[in-house]
Amino acid sequence: MVAPRKLNALGVAGASELFQLLRDGRPRTRAELAEITGMARSTIGLRLDTLLDLNLIGPIGEGVSSGGRPPSQFALNQSARVVVGADLGASHATLAVTDLGGTILGTLRTAMPIADGPERVLSWFADATRTLLADLGRSPSDLLAVGMGLPGPVEHSTGRPVNPPIMPGWDGFDVPAWVRETLGVPALVDNDVNIMAIGERTHAFPDTRDLLFVKVATGIGSGIISGGLLQRGAQGSAGDIGHVPIQRGAGVACHCGNFGCLEAMASGPAIARQLRQTGATTDSMRDVIDLVRAGDLNAIRAVRQAGRDIGEVLTMCVSMVNPSVIVLGGSVSAAGEQLLAGVREVVYQRSTPLATHHLSIVQSQAAENAAVLGASMLALDFALSPEAIGSMNASA
Ligand SMILES: [Zn+2]
Repeated sequence: MVAPRKLNALGVAGASELFQLLRDGRPRTRAELAEITGMARSTIGLRLDTLLDLNLIGPIGEGVSSGGRPPSQFALNQSARVVVGADLGASHATLAVTDLGGTILGTLRTAMPIADGPERVLSWFADATRTLLADLGRSPSDLLAVGMGLPGPVEHSTGRPVNPPIMPGWDGFDVPAWVRETLGVPALVDNDVNIMAIGERTHAFPDTRDLLFVKVATGIGSGIISGGLLQRGAQGSAGDIGHVPIQRGAGVACHCGNFGCLEAMASGPAIARQLRQTGATTDSMRDVIDLVRAGDLNAIRAVRQAGRDIGEVLTMCVSMVNPSVIVLGGSVSAAGEQLLAGVREVVYQRSTPLATHHLSIVQSQAAENAAVLGASMLALDFALSPEAIGSMNASA
């Protein structure tokens, strides 16, 4: 163990910057690190010692040598600690334990209505976290942080839900304080579409700087990544496209109190409702997807039209943020190509050639893991930030 005084003198702060380089998991030698950072080899050595003491990195394999003793390589010690990513949805809750590299080690899922209120839902979350850690043979002290997605608007700076329409009892609830009191770790809370955008980018588009993730399910929303950063807007509601009016919606009432909203025309329940009007027995989105897969023409037309409606709003988004990738996720996107085809039809036809020249519109690849992966990433980015590493103590 290194004495705190020595740590201060040598600078955990400097070590934390070196650590940011090693977070990608690639093994590097002292010489490579010196070359990338411009630091002296002796400084690199001291900072590596600090990170080794913190158990955040470990020596790995052997580097390529020009002769003599092979140089040691160092890389992120992915299994040293873990974080939890949670996706608390309208009717289901999922959580995943991931390592420091963002690899999912185990997941738990249960039917859990968010409308049961914060005490009940979060108590399940805390119990499930302890159970999953134990199942994976991890100690509670291995947990660094929690990332959590909620199905409603969240004030990012405080982690508190703000007037969430489908979450009775949650308005203003201090989720991070509850988690810290119960599990003893910090919690980062965001809305579900934002974490899905982060999860999708991490999983499938790590080099894409401008990505729009659109969730089409019971509601419709989007997460905007621009210039490599998630854009939350002034109050955290950026990307909330569900209540933008569309042409076909004229006169149709939406649950928000307005008329003609995208969500009232193209969400899962809206498509099921429209099909019921043609005589189909579609109680849920599941029924709609089954009909589409069975080749039912009315269902195919309805989903394709929903795609065009979404495309109408996305055309505007393309003009505003110029993404290079639009990803469709959420339960309705399981209907597959028909929804995508409707979106593409309108966006490619109506957007400017420059904006669509390199624009791909694709289905989510992270699929049902997008949310927990994104939530884990929120937790990791916080727990492994230069500030957090800088304040770590080697004895921790
Ligand atoms: Zn509305």
